[in-house]
Amino acid sequence: MLEEKLKIDKIKKGTVIDHIDAGYALTILNLTGLDESPNLMTIGVNVSSKKYKKKDIIKIEGVFLDEIQMQQISILSPNATISLIEEYKVMDKIKVKLPKKIEGLILCQNNTCISNSEEPIDSEFSVLEEKPLKIQCIYCNRIYKLDEIVFSSREKIEKRVRQLIQL
Ligand SMILES: [Zn+2]
Repeated sequence: MLEEKLKIDKIKKGTVIDHIDAGYALTILNLTGLDESPNLMTIGVNVSSKKYKKKDIIKIEGVFLDEIQMQQISILSPNATISLIEEYKVMDKIKVKLPKKIEGLILCQNNTCISNSEEPIDSEFSVLEEKPLKIQCIYCNRIYKLDEIVFSSREKIEKRVRQLIQL
């Protein structure tokens, strides 16, 4: 019922993040910084879904996600699909994919880890298990579950991207 209603409530231009793991919509908005957007958003939590029983869905008018936000979503909800909407039509549909290695995006919370030293070393985590998520720092071997993950600041990620471009 609710799912049908949300489908009817189409957006003109923007992004639809669908098939989010149930209960993760607010976490995604918060951790990707989308919650700071002044644009109109429709958020469905625990929407019934044929494929996953329950899911969350986010629709944002006038906003397109960048590469960093898409990667963050792939970590938080690896089944998510991201649709780009123009003039009420789906112009592109992207299925996010959780990479085997997550570079630069996540902070290792071990203070003595070399990824936290002054050395210009990016954090790097291996994905041990996808569901439920379990990742391991390749430098200090500390293991993190989904609810323990802290994303690197956007400033830090952007700085890294700039460095990569310069190389
Ligand atoms: Zn570490």
